[in-house]
Amino acid sequence: MDFHVMLVPTLGCPSNCSYCWSSEEGSPIMSIETIEEVVKWLKNFRDDGVTFTFHGGEPLLAGAEFYKKALPLLSEGLSHLKPAFALQTNLWKLTPELARILAEYDIPIGSSIDGPRELNDLQRGEGYFDKTMQGYKIARDNGLTVRFITTFTSYSVEFKEDIFNFFLENGLTLKLHPALPSLRGENPGKWALDPEKYGELLIYLLDKYLENMDKIEVMNIDHLCKCVFTGLGSVCTFVDCMGNTFAVGPEGSIYPCYRFVGMPEYVMGNVYDHPGIEDLAKSDAWKLMHEFKEYVDRECKECPYIKYCRGGCPYNAIVPTEGKINGIDPHCTAYKMIFKEINDRANKELFDSPMGMSPFQPQPVKDARPGIMSLMLRVK
Ligand code: SF4
Ligand code: SF4
Repeated sequence: MDFHVMLVPTLGCPSNCSYCWSSEEGSPIMSIETIEEVVKWLKNFRDDGVTFTFHGGEPLLAGAEFYKKALPLLSEGLSHLKPAFALQTNLWKLTPELARILAEYDIPIGSSIDGPRELNDLQRGEGYFDKTMQGYKIARDNGLTVRFITTFTSYSVEFKEDIFNFFLENGLTLKLHPALPSLRGENPGKWALDPEKYGELLIYLLDKYLENMDKIEVMNIDHLCKCVFTGLGSVCTFVDCMGNTFAVGPEGSIYPCYRFVGMPEYVMGNVYDHPGIEDLAKSDAWKLMHEFKEYVDRECKECPYIKYCRGGCPYNAIVPTEGKINGIDPHCTAYKMIFKEINDRANKELFDSPMGMSPFQPQPVKDARPGIMSLMLRVK
């Protein structure tokens, strides 16, 4: 099974989004020496394919020189693992020089925009939209593929139609993320998207997607349909990520995922020590992640969706309760709502299909809107 290493060159970020939970002022920048140690660490770590995602904070703060050296070091030093790369950035610091380096390695870019300028800047700060769009242009001019993630908050969910239309009209692929309670600040729940609202939003987007299937791609809905169709999780939230995902912080500490970077209690080891799996497995963070897996096996045992949900994201479940496993991912309500909706619609379509006709064949239907099966067959 392939594995995933998230490299967090810094937790610093030049923007100041209202609901951010992961940036840290004055965070150091990863040195090239740390990348060299990553190569040594992974040389004999395991034999599967690896994907490196540069994440932050804002990873482009590391600058062109960093990527000019880091990319060949990783790709040549670990060629036996066939490394693939990805990068998550707000694009503000993208220069033509940096874009050319990233294009050389064919790196897909994930960026963030919350909808039309006014709405986006209200959540992410004045001037954010224009700076990101400027970087987007540089990325496109250099042949890079950019996909945007939109964070739905308790506020922006009220404008879901405007947000959907913004993505549709601009020919952008839609991927969404629910705002989580921030672990910093005085009012942590202010922007967080309530799980039930999140479930309603997913069902709304499913309908909008079916109406506009030939014009837009809604990645979350694709992933959710794929889960149901294949009976297996299709993104990290819906698989047992523990043991297959790691993150390396600016100074070489190893964590279970980028979301934990900067929290000393979740450090599993350091790349400078070149730990093997058995060494990482001795850490408290590793044990906690595996306790969560066992907890899910017990708590979600009766749930019809357990095979392709796996209790959701352990970070969402563990971190807000200060490292105590008191429950599954609080977004469970949303997952149940959307999985039920997809299953019910698929069953209805199968049940209603005329006798003798395979439900897997496209059939003439009175209602012009495509059904869920056409979406499921597309993403299978
Ligand atoms: S902790 Fe959550 S975000 Fe991180 S890899 Fe696991 S499921 Fe994904
Ligand atoms: S939907 Fe909820 S109960 Fe079911 S597996 Fe997912 S987290 Fe567990």
